[in-house]
Amino acid sequence: MKHPPLEILQDYFENALVLSQEKRVKEHLLVCDQCSKMLADFAVIETKVLKRTAPVINAQTQQRIFADAKKMLAQRGQQKLVQIERQEKIKELMQDWQEKLSFDWRVPALQFASLSLVLAVVVAVETNQSEETTYQPISTDVQVSTYQDVTPQEGE
Ligand SMILES: [Zn+2]
Repeated sequence: MKHPPLEILQDYFENALVLSQEKRVKEHLLVCDQCSKMLADFAVIETKVLKRTAPVINAQTQQRIFADAKKMLAQRGQQKLVQIERQEKIKELMQDWQEKLSFDWRVPALQFASLSLVLAVVVAVETNQSEETTYQPISTDVQVSTYQDVTPQEGE
């Protein structure tokens, strides 16, 4: 059986595929236990990440995370381009999927999980940038820290 490449499964999991691509993956999942299991594993990893208790972060680490997040936001202009490149790559992979017989199944599970964490930080920072709103935690178990938290309060 020809399995879709990991990238395609990941985008399927994140609802990032266009409808025709999604339909093809769905059809494959109906007949492939292996790929269905893989998607179930993604869900387990994501649940574990979301349910993890927020670690205690000291001020120095917090500053470093904010610095990294700011750097990432500074590159936001390139994001659209990256998205387009990703879609192009998925299109190519879809075509390769027709031709390849198998691919390496060893999933970089930890890498996937840490990516989710990085995205959680960026989502929290971005929310505040757009408007004067409060941060929106993506899960009640996620503790969101703001810049105000680390700025010394005056006159108090
Ligand atoms: Zn499969």
